Amino acid sequence: MLTQAPRGTRDIFGAEIKKWQEVEAKIREICENAGIEEIRTPIFEHTELFLRGVGETTDIVNKEMYTFNDKGDRSITLKPEGTAGIARAYIEHGMHNMPQPIKLYYLSAPTFRYEKAQAGRQRQFHQFGVEMLGSLSPAQDVEAISVAARLIESLGIENIELRLNSLGCPECRGRYNKALREFIGENLENLCPTCKERYEKNPLRVLDCKEEKCKKIIENAPSVLDCLDEECTAHFNKVQEILTEMGIKFVVDPKIVRGLDYYTRTVFEFVTNSIGAQGTVCGGGRYDKLIEECGGQPTGAVGFGLGMERLLLTLEAQNGKFENKPYKDIYIGAIGDKGFVKAQAVTYNLRKEGIKAECDTVGRSVKAQMKYANKIGAKYSVIIGDNEIAEDKVSLKNMETGDVQEIKLSEIANYIAH
Ligand SMILES: [Zn+2]
Ligand SMILES: [Zn+2]
Repeated sequence: MLTQAPRGTRDIFGAEIKKWQEVEAKIREICENAGIEEIRTPIFEHTELFLRGVGETTDIVNKEMYTFNDKGDRSITLKPEGTAGIARAYIEHGMHNMPQPIKLYYLSAPTFRYEKAQAGRQRQFHQFGVEMLGSLSPAQDVEAISVAARLIESLGIENIELRLNSLGCPECRGRYNKALREFIGENLENLCPTCKERYEKNPLRVLDCKEEKCKKIIENAPSVLDCLDEECTAHFNKVQEILTEMGIKFVVDPKIVRGLDYYTRTVFEFVTNSIGAQGTVCGGGRYDKLIEECGGQPTGAVGFGLGMERLLLTLEAQNGKFENKPYKDIYIGAIGDKGFVKAQAVTYNLRKEGIKAECDTVGRSVKAQMKYANKIGAKYSVIIGDNEIAEDKVSLKNMETGDVQEIKLSEIANYIAH
């Protein structure tokens, strides 16, 4: 027990953390490029926020939240998704008084859901997400979608499809719920037990069911797009028009409903076949009622989120383009006590010049040091002993070619291209 991380959690280190950092750097670059700024919200919030913000009929709230009372007897919940916390922050800091839209992203934010642990699904996982608040225009939907599309493209993810749908405003959705409930009612006995429950509480969720028998029935369900009023239809059409103008490919899929209650109008998913069963790599949509629901003023908003674990799994399954090799610029070997001390100082000074230098801090023999230098992928090495110090000279060895060059100790930095 003591030496094993809790089920559904894991350590990320070594070659794997390099991949995370590579993807994170790409994400930051794309967000900053689109004028989206980072926000870091707390890992836990008042439970009430998620009951309001995520929806009391969702699986997340019903089954998956890590909720506990703290020592002050307040009900606290570990963040099960990223949007509600940002909605809270938007209200708390009066962001509606700043120039709109407010465009924010969060990156590798620890997120917690009590789920069956499996590949790509952890109980503590990490999310990247973008939220754009303060605009009702369909152009804002498209800006969010386009950022996700650029990320997917620049990471080189293939076989991925953007699926688009509109859930309409609450009135349209009400009409659709009614039509859907009627349809489900007619097929109720053939649906799975979970769907029977959903029929009462939230029929929309039936469209999400992964059970084969439910999927089959749902194929013939009425389309939400037939229930949209004029305004919601116009909004959805404009989204498609701008996407087309941008050259971003999409398919309209009326079965996309997303797992959360707060979505209005546009919803979207990027779906791929690369990680076994068909999976959503990234999903999001518009949520115009959320800020109000959480106690703020009516505020148009749109965003998306993606699980970092899933994204990395997809990348690995597809191209494994990560190099993954550890490397260091130079290894500073040492002979004798003076050499040992000098090597520490030389390493420190090279690092100050931006060079990835390593030296012995364990007390290895010279032979073992050189073996180690090979293992960590050092491009160059030197060995410093009494003679080298006295004569201010070292033999700089290119570890790949074996070439050796005599240089001054103080000149190492000049000889290393990095
Ligand atoms: Zn409507
Ligand atoms: Zn079902």
